Amino acid sequence: MADNKGDFLRYAVMDADVYAMCVQHALSTEKEEIMGLLIGEVDTIHKRSYIKSTMILTRSDKKPDRVEISPEQICTASSYADKLAERMKRPWRVLGWYHSHPHITVWPSIVDLRTQATYQMMDPFFVGLIFSVYQTSGNSMNNSVYICCFQTVRNGSSCDKRCVNLEIAPSSLKSYNLEGSIKLPKILYEEEVKSHDEQTSEDMDNLTRLYNESIKTVELVHIVSYVAKPLAIDLEERLNITKKRIAELEKLKRRLIAQKNQ
Ligand SMILES: [Zn+2]
Repeated sequence: MADNKGDFLRYAVMDADVYAMCVQHALSTEKEEIMGLLIGEVDTIHKRSYIKSTMILTRSDKKPDRVEISPEQICTASSYADKLAERMKRPWRVLGWYHSHPHITVWPSIVDLRTQATYQMMDPFFVGLIFSVYQTSGNSMNNSVYICCFQTVRNGSSCDKRCVNLEIAPSSLKSYNLEGSIKLPKILYEEEVKSHDEQTSEDMDNLTRLYNESIKTVELVHIVSYVAKPLAIDLEERLNITKKRIAELEKLKRRLIAQKNQ
């Protein structure tokens, strides 16, 4: 397979809101890898990507290192990107994917490099992001988040990673991107209910059924207390800051109008 040497991504710029959302998503579970698609615009002349939004994906297979994206999911994401593009009046599209590595190093696995290579065959500027979370070093209790922004280079039959520079930029006022965050608890809830229902069968005795129900309740409480509640507090805080900012800008506007009229 020929690697198109000329076309590769040099630089990626990610909105701070999108970064926060991906990290939040990655931290939502310590047990499994999570994944999603990245949406934004690509400057093919300067080989730069501007990541403006995400779409969280539900996992059909929750096994470790199994982060496959189905063609249906890509299709749904494309039409979601089209809708966003229309709303923002910008040429937004699906430009990459992200997934998490809980407790393991940030570097892409062979499976990740191969998956990335297949995407690059369709779009040479497609980018992969990995968030490594829940990694503690030595006796330290600090939890660090590592990010790897990469593409795959093919060397004969083997695949290597090429690191892409990543910049996290302040989100512009116009493109606040909180829709995705709001969807997170709902998606996690749906995944949990689905995987629970798959494990429950008609011929189970009452005690087993009761036990399974209690496990499901515990998992759902976990989503509420560790994801939904902190998210609500965070958004509440953000609303307060935005209100303050609006008030300050209104004050500035009045002052400028007064100066102009003097
Ligand atoms: Zn991986």
